[in-house]
Amino acid sequence: MKKTEDIRKKLMYKPKNFWIDTTKNEQKIALKFSEGYKKYLSCCKTERQAIRFTLEEIKAKSFVNIEELGTKSSRFVYRVFKNKAMAIAVIGKSPISKGVNIVASHIDAPRVDLKQNPLYEDKETQIGMLRTHYYGGIKKYQWMSTPLALHGVVVKQNGDRVHITVGESELDPVFIMPDLLPHLAKDQMTKVASEFIQAGQMNVVFNSIPYSDEKDEVKDAIKLQALQMIWEKYSIREEDLLSAELQLVPAGKARDAGFDKSFVVGYGQDDRICAYTSLQALLDVKEIDANKTCVVFLFDKEEVGSDSVGGATSVFFKDFIADLLKLKNEDISENNLRKTLINSAVLSADVNAGINPNFPAVHEAQNACHLGYGVVLTKYTGARGKSGSNDATSEFMAKLIHIFEDEKVSWQTGSLGKVDEGGGGTIAKFLAMHGCDVIDCGPGLLGMHSLYELASKADIYSTYKAYKAFFMRV
Ligand code: MN
Ligand code: MN
Repeated sequence: MKKTEDIRKKLMYKPKNFWIDTTKNEQKIALKFSEGYKKYLSCCKTERQAIRFTLEEIKAKSFVNIEELGTKSSRFVYRVFKNKAMAIAVIGKSPISKGVNIVASHIDAPRVDLKQNPLYEDKETQIGMLRTHYYGGIKKYQWMSTPLALHGVVVKQNGDRVHITVGESELDPVFIMPDLLPHLAKDQMTKVASEFIQAGQMNVVFNSIPYSDEKDEVKDAIKLQALQMIWEKYSIREEDLLSAELQLVPAGKARDAGFDKSFVVGYGQDDRICAYTSLQALLDVKEIDANKTCVVFLFDKEEVGSDSVGGATSVFFKDFIADLLKLKNEDISENNLRKTLINSAVLSADVNAGINPNFPAVHEAQNACHLGYGVVLTKYTGARGKSGSNDATSEFMAKLIHIFEDEKVSWQTGSLGKVDEGGGGTIAKFLAMHGCDVIDCGPGLLGMHSLYELASKADIYSTYKAYKAFFMRV
């Protein structure tokens, strides 16, 4: 019997549960690690807020803007690109052209944006409403009849920026897209879920007290009062909204979930969970004299294909690596830049779909990731026969597994659902175009892209540990 057990142990692969496989002390550290993460999630509901939060944190730790260095030098640098993307680097001992270690995540999340000209007065009900346009892959019905907060920025013609946050403080109002009552939803309830809420029905209640003028009857009094209130509070006119970026997101803070508090529930964990853990890993590397230069990238627009100026397809990725070559007085020719990228290693830091106890049928359990089993290495993503995926090389993946084992990182592999069940992609394939080794690496979530995504504290901590091991050892 003993022999059989030995052979089983030696030959069979069995993913390990963090809560069983690690020491009580490590579990305590893991639970504590999520405290900072919850704060980050609660403050960072938009990509701009994630950048601002990160800036504050790294400036306090003496990172300097690489564009303001002049002839000075620093080992700790960052650059913000058009307020939409960001890179942070800790310069290592070896030349940049030998390759850098990059953890790249995205800081945008599915949400409901206001239209550029959002405000209207519903004549029948005499209610002021805001029109919306959803962003990313959402289930529209989830956004109905739930408290939403409004976040964003209005840039005025003179360049002044007005930051707006309404709905996060206890004293703030929140916003609601009222759903239809079940009593009158006979027709709605017979429709398929993708159709029973139309985008045009996702309007938000804004106000109902009309503008009053003692002498005259006021036309469009509800809308006028809405504009009057906005003017009083922010000095913004309706025309200023045309260029604004205003986003509706679930109101409220991230918090513990589960009676044992082993989970974090909150909005936007795809992918701010990777943004936060990679930043913390980099800040730890700062304290050590690392061999390779380590870089964290935070990108925008992953949820809609990684295009636009702050997306992973933007020239910013290459340009920042060129900045690093310049900083170290290395050859900044296109040829050397290309070689630098080819020599570099990238973790495409994004989430995977954990197997959901309510919906196990969409997964193939043997190849799906499980919450609480550590960070997930995803060799490929894609759909319909791996189309549109980055497929990491065996060599790169095996090297990482070796490092994770060595550094006692809880890890597992994952795939996005059963074959042909659906699928999806990440920024991995865009970064692989530069010739770097790239693999998807991040935690699994339950209820991804919903208003309240669920993550295991074991996986949040393991992800941080994995990124740190990658920075130090690759
Ligand atoms: Mn993602
Ligand atoms: Mn996503």
